[in-house]
Amino acid sequence: MSQVEPPAPVKAAVLCDALPYIRRFAGRTVVVKYGGNALAGVDGSAAPIFPVTSLQQGEQARGQETEALRRFAEDVVLLRSIGILPVVVHGGGPQIGSLMKRLGKVPEFRGGLRVTDAETLEIARMVLVGKVNRDIVGMINVHGPLAVGLSGEDAGLITATARDPELGYVGDVVAVDPSIIRHLLAEGLVPVIATIGSDRVGQAYNINADTVAGAVAETLGAEKLVFLTDVEGIRAISTDPTTLLHCLTAHELDAMVASGAVAEGMVPKATACAHAVAHGVAGAHVLDGRVPHAILLELLTSEGVGTMVVAK
Ligand code: ADP
Ligand code: MG
Repeated sequence: MSQVEPPAPVKAAVLCDALPYIRRFAGRTVVVKYGGNALAGVDGSAAPIFPVTSLQQGEQARGQETEALRRFAEDVVLLRSIGILPVVVHGGGPQIGSLMKRLGKVPEFRGGLRVTDAETLEIARMVLVGKVNRDIVGMINVHGPLAVGLSGEDAGLITATARDPELGYVGDVVAVDPSIIRHLLAEGLVPVIATIGSDRVGQAYNINADTVAGAVAETLGAEKLVFLTDVEGIRAISTDPTTLLHCLTAHELDAMVASGAVAEGMVPKATACAHAVAHGVAGAHVLDGRVPHAILLELLTSEGVGTMVVAK
């Protein structure tokens, strides 16, 4: 795709326009949840973890995923370079599903949550901690030694408990100990968190990454909580892109969850946004992670993209 370069004065004007935002957010923490679907590229297909029957198909998916990740990493590095403190929390649902399929396991969902037996937990943990986390850390560190990968199991970061015995090892957040994140931020580093938590006897649980991002943002008293997903924001009618809602209060959002207007994978994001802004996070955003540099547009320009959630 050929792009026309903007003239130099336009570029300079763009940088100047960003100045008030840079000053406002410098030294502030921004928690960014990067969704497995945004990561998977435009068609939502996760890049295969092992060689597939059609090598060409596999390479295509891998190329898309790498491109999306490369742009995301650039944005994170840019934010860090202008003094903002990004904390990345990532999902990986499609990537877990893809490996399960290759291993001949059929993913089962109840109420939007993956039923997680011991074997599924093992797969989820391998994919999230061993693959997706490594890919994100690696891509950020192309720009310099910045990113440090963590699992919620590390240094007591996320204490979890079973959500519902029917779902197996699907966890809920009991507590977040932000000490390790604060240490890393103080050293100028970028924490990248895979959302496996453990209980007090060391049992691991797979936790919804949206829920973890919200809990981490609240615990840190973050300035912003940003969800990068595979739709342009929260829609009044979930299937109609022309019904994008630009600004919502926590109360309005809670009502949309209760009425079912917000459904499926948007529910934990909406719940986390509403809870976070009611508990000290200044603003929460749901943005289209497939749009190049959506997070820079949202944070550093007056162009609001996606949905912004405010306390009232
Ligand atoms: P992620 O990998 O980013 O967590 P999910 O698939 O879990 O992505 O959640 C995003 C999905 O939520 C959208 O693709 C869309 O199908 C669904 N959704 C449900 N209700 C809404 C809504 N009101 N507005 C936008 N998307 C919605
Ligand atoms: Mg999801």
